[in-house]
Parts: sequence; C-alpha cells; structure tokens
Amino acid sequence: MGDMDPIRHGVYTTAQLIAMVGRTGLAELIRLEYARQLRRGWYQLGEVSQNLVAAIQRGGVLSCVSALEHHGVWVPEGPDVHVRADSWATRNRKGPFCRQFGRPTPTAEAIDDVPTAIRHAARCLDTEGFIVACDSILNRRLMTWDQLEYQFRDAPTAIARALSRCDGDAESGPETMARLRLMDLRLPVRIQVEVTDDDRVDLLIGDWLIIEIDGWEYHGDRKSFQHDRTRDRRTFRIGYHTLRYTYDDIVFDWARSLTDIQRAVAAGLHPRPNRRRV
Ligand SMILES: [Zn+2]
Repeated sequence: MGDMDPIRHGVYTTAQLIAMVGRTGLAELIRLEYARQLRRGWYQLGEVSQNLVAAIQRGGVLSCVSALEHHGVWVPEGPDVHVRADSWATRNRKGPFCRQFGRPTPTAEAIDDVPTAIRHAARCLDTEGFIVACDSILNRRLMTWDQLEYQFRDAPTAIARALSRCDGDAESGPETMARLRLMDLRLPVRIQVEVTDDDRVDLLIGDWLIIEIDGWEYHGDRKSFQHDRTRDRRTFRIGYHTLRYTYDDIVFDWARSLTDIQRAVAAGLHPRPNRRRV
C-alpha cells in the first residue's frame, strides 16, 4: 500500500480494485478487513450507505430513484431501495428490479450515473415525481435539456408530455409539486419571480399572491429567518400577500394548504388589487 493516495470509500468490482491497487494491494485490503466482500466480485471499502450495500447484496447495482438521491437530485421520499439488475442478477436473481424504456444498460459501476438512473426512474415514479426529479437534475446542472430529451428520444409520448412541463428554475421538489398542482387547477402561477430588485419568490399566483416554501435546511439560521419576515412585510407594503409553507405542508398536507390558497384567490388577493382612492 505504501504512500499511495487513500482509496475513496465506496463499492468496487474486483477488476476496479486490481486496477487501483494491484492484486497484492487487494489481498492486503482484505487481510486488513478494510475491504469487505458483499457478493462475488464486489467489495465494500470503508463506510458506504445501507442502500448501496442492499443493492449489491440483492444482486444488482444502485439505480433509479436511489441513485438519483445519491447524486443529490431531489426525489420524492419513499421506503424502497431501487436496484437495477446487472447481467449476473438477470441470470441468477428474481428481483424486484427497476426497468427502463428500451434495452438494458451494461453495468459499469456500483451506482448508476444520472442519465441511466433517470431512465429507470421514468418507469418507477409517477408523472409528478418524474417531473420533480427532472426539474432538480436541470436546476443542479447534472444534465442539460438536450441531454435529458436525448435520453427519452424513444420513450412513450407520455414522457415527452411530462418533459414539456419541466422547469429547470425550480429550486426544490415541493416547489415543483405546488407549481404542477396549481397549474392543473388553471391558476396563473410562475416560479422564481423577481418581485422587487432584491426579492425573488418561489411561486407567484397572478401578480400579487406570493407562495413561499421554506426548507428547514436553508432557513435554520437566525439571519435568514429574520430576512424572510422582513421581506414579507416589505412586499406587503407594496401590495403583495405572502403565504408561507413548509415541506410537510406541501408533501403531506396539500389539501389543507390548497384550501388556504383557494381562499386567498377567492378573496381576490392574486390579481392587482383595486386600491381605494383617498
Ligand atoms: Zn426504481
């Protein structure tokens, strides 16, 4: 082993490890119990996620929704580990395995790349979940529009229709969910709108009703907490109304969240209010 670079934690094939450290190096890693065999031909090095271990032990590779999550893509929460069968698993194991439109892809790594993963997720997620994932891929610049469309060039038209509803400006999954659901109700909604020189809002219904969705990870500190409240009052002074929601409000309590939005719309808070002349 000597003074070579430390090996990155992860799951590797025997061939990958031999290319990295040689046969002697691999034997040494196994002897030191730093490399642990997950199944024939696959080794775990150091700390890796439980989902990844489960995928390899079930006989495939981590793919689909689980791989997207690993790459930092926003995906709907769910209990399943999404596993794609590699050529060994296709012959030896029953699954369940995630499928894609078109022919199977050869396995290169323990975790599928974003294009392979989204092709599988297109069959595992519902339309909304698929758009959420695509929005996030575009927003995080993990793929371009052209690359995304190319991946689905042979997919059914429902996929093309879903892609046409994607918006790479979306900054979170709940934001995409709210946008799609409000559009389905034919409400005039836009996302990431600059309402003043300093204020960009998550969603704007009509011209005056602001919908903000707060993720606790970005709002955990005192400064941004204060900033949000100061902004609500600043925009209120020039005619806007703000409804503020959390992740849970959108994902788990949409019916109630929507009721309040519909009340605000019914009260006429979304178009330009008719100011009373003094
Ligand atoms: Zn899947």
